[in-house]
Amino acid sequence: MHRIERREFIRDAAAGACALLARRRPAASATMPQRSAPSRSAKPARELAPPAFRPLPLGSIRPQGWLARQLRIQADGLSGHLDEFWPDVARSRWFGGDAEGWERAPYWLDGVIPLAWILDDTALKARIGRYVEYIAAHQRPDGWLAPYPEDAVSKPYDLWAILLAGKMLVQYHEATGDDRILRAVERSLRALHGGLARTPLYDWGRFRWFEGLIPVFYIYERTGEPWLLDLAHTLRAQGFDYVELYRGEDVTVPTPRRGLWKWTKHVVNTAMAVKAGALSWRLRPSQDDRVFPARMIGLLDRFHGQATGMFTGDECLAGRNPVQGTELCAVVEFLYSLETLLSVFGDPPFGDRLERVAYNALPAAFSPDMWAHQYDQQANQVQCTINPEHMWTTNGPESNLFGLEPNYGCCTANMHQGWPKFAAGLWMKTPDEGIAAVAYAPSTARFDSRGTPVTVSLATDYPFRETLRITVENGRPARFPLLLRVPAWTEGATARVAGLPEQSLRPGTFHRIEREWPGRAEIELRFPMKLRAALRYNEAVALERGPLVFSLELGETWTRVHADLPHRELPHGDFEVRPSTPWNYGLLIDMENPATSVRLEERPVGENPFSPEGAGVAAIAEGRKLPGWKLAHGWAAETPPGLQESGEALEKLTLIPYGCAKLRVTEFPRLRK
Ligand SMILES: [Zn+2]
Repeated sequence: MHRIERREFIRDAAAGACALLARRRPAASATMPQRSAPSRSAKPARELAPPAFRPLPLGSIRPQGWLARQLRIQADGLSGHLDEFWPDVARSRWFGGDAEGWERAPYWLDGVIPLAWILDDTALKARIGRYVEYIAAHQRPDGWLAPYPEDAVSKPYDLWAILLAGKMLVQYHEATGDDRILRAVERSLRALHGGLARTPLYDWGRFRWFEGLIPVFYIYERTGEPWLLDLAHTLRAQGFDYVELYRGEDVTVPTPRRGLWKWTKHVVNTAMAVKAGALSWRLRPSQDDRVFPARMIGLLDRFHGQATGMFTGDECLAGRNPVQGTELCAVVEFLYSLETLLSVFGDPPFGDRLERVAYNALPAAFSPDMWAHQYDQQANQVQCTINPEHMWTTNGPESNLFGLEPNYGCCTANMHQGWPKFAAGLWMKTPDEGIAAVAYAPSTARFDSRGTPVTVSLATDYPFRETLRITVENGRPARFPLLLRVPAWTEGATARVAGLPEQSLRPGTFHRIEREWPGRAEIELRFPMKLRAALRYNEAVALERGPLVFSLELGETWTRVHADLPHRELPHGDFEVRPSTPWNYGLLIDMENPATSVRLEERPVGENPFSPEGAGVAAIAEGRKLPGWKLAHGWAAETPPGLQESGEALEKLTLIPYGCAKLRVTEFPRLRK
């Protein structure tokens, strides 16, 4: 009943949106470099609402400093080598092989394309080029990409992988300007358009329908073909309605441990759907879609939130308990959703959240060399072992091992997009020919402002430090705005522009500097990072500073397992990790003013920024052992609720950033004074 009403509403609203936007030419053609836009005579019948910011074309942003080291570590780890030995990529049916031919190879390419172009890695780019050209060359005459089964006309076929492949291929087009790829995606979308009339979306395709809007919008903004917007509306009408789902109560209830798997509470679907409102809003601007993403994130925080800014799902939404898991696919998809929200709506809180997830939950799930990853991470993760007693909702006993494909291979295929897309989205173009710093990491971005080439560089050890230095260089004097995101958590933030007196910045806003840029100018930014104590599940405490969350540093003993399985030869083995130091401490802390009992220690940011040795900052706190807090179900037991008593000696405890600590306690019971 509901679905029919909604479909009719969409049709009417689309007509309304058309009238509303008819006078607004999208910023696309004016601000977005179009390297190979084919000349077509067709005029758009309708328009897409322009986004607040446009991501720069792939390759315009280069990582520097610690971020360059991190991306190089990634390319030298599993990401840059998976196609050499992992059957589901190396022998994928997408490349003419006999292994998996659905989501895995497109997932891998979706991450390594931005990785290779951001690093300008010639060898990796050449290999990717061969895979993508193979896909394009083997497209069928009817437009379907080759692994689409011959009998899909008569039998059901879940179209999710086709949506994903389109999203992946348009990135390749953006990076290379290869017009054959643009035409291949256009033909694939035509086939999809016809296919949806025959086999409406179901299962994964239905719950991830909005991913299809990404290639549809990309091709539409370059060709103006009106049928593409019809396709977008069809996807929306056949797709699952998350706005309606989040009006109900079911999503607020943690899935029972060893409980029930549901499409609607699947953690990866959830992380992806955070951007559904933004994509939908571009198609048909409505207040419902405009406010939904922030509301959805708020509900996830309240009922499933973790200190890292993520929510649990192992693999369905699992509540706030810090021993429940968060799947790596959900981490990288949530990051991409936040990047999309920042681009479409330009709201600064999405940037705060993006950094929080990228600087904590993302690196935490990888071994420091990025040759192994976890399926599920835990905020209180004191051991990672093959654990038949586990209490995940539906995942298996190996889900928090560090390995090649612990539990299931989806994350092995999908995890690559995390760092590269984060790096590619640090700077975005504003509609008035300026540039916005939406997230901060050492980087250089090149863009064009009304014909003047401009380079902006950020030198910093942020998020391990409070100071950032931006250099703006332009070939000739030019006037354009520079927007700086001021995080909501900072107090007393300042900017000194080109040696002028310091200005104070308002937290939670974009600070706009519009001036004549002389040719070279420096901006010194300072975002003071006051130590914060956050109250969490069972009244436990987590320590935070800027975008970083701190965890107790534990001694780690890594033990190889599964060495006899195929494709487990080093360096990509599977590992159990056990603690070699005690973990069961309560923290003695003044919640209002944690700095009185915690000493911060700045350390050099290591060659490997997200390893215990490389931690660029540490917090020395005080605590006592809680002998009653022990292991349960092979993990740390739930944090004992309320204030705790302990007769044990007061000890100095070293906390390091969450992403550096592969074993950790993040939510500590609080000690009574
Ligand atoms: Zn996964």
